[in-house]
Amino acid sequence: MIDKLSLIFGSKTKAQEIVLLLNDAKPVVRQGFYPEELPKVERFCKNNYLFIAKSRFKVIMVDNGSYSNKGLRIPEMDKRPGMYFVYLSKDEEKTWLAAYQEMMHSDRELGILLGYPVCCVDYFCHSFSKSNVDPMHKPTNPYTNLTKRDQDCVLLSHFPCSSDCDHSLQLARKYLNVLADVDRNRARKIMEKLR
Ligand SMILES: [Zn+2]
Repeated sequence: MIDKLSLIFGSKTKAQEIVLLLNDAKPVVRQGFYPEELPKVERFCKNNYLFIAKSRFKVIMVDNGSYSNKGLRIPEMDKRPGMYFVYLSKDEEKTWLAAYQEMMHSDRELGILLGYPVCCVDYFCHSFSKSNVDPMHKPTNPYTNLTKRDQDCVLLSHFPCSSDCDHSLQLARKYLNVLADVDRNRARKIMEKLR
């Protein structure tokens, strides 16, 4: 299941988020796509009753992918190749709200909309800066471990306020359970790698 979806969404981590969205474990998902990737994604959304809103700006990624707010925002008409952000949800209003909050640089409101724990949203808002674009902790458990995300292996899509953040642990366990129902193999591999 995850392998199949990753052909559409470009990575297993992104495919996982879509599974979580479809199974009501996430309210909204935010992902970055290049223009040529969008038709497949849009078709999937239409066939699966998901709403999709697209940013009116593009982002040039400074490093690996759409995980954080890294990247330079450029206008849509700029000729340089950039990624669009898309916001996916079963609830149309939430896709537009997320697009709006991101456009307004309202990190806090966006984080809350995306279903991240308030403690972690506050942590991100205080610690994320140009000099600290990766406010990550030493892993103490597989659930909140972000160190393998560049290898397409991670459960959370937010920076936990600490490796032992209760809310993040609860979320990650919930995600793993949903994932195990849909793709037992992937769930097992993730836990092996994050341990
Ligand atoms: Zn937290």
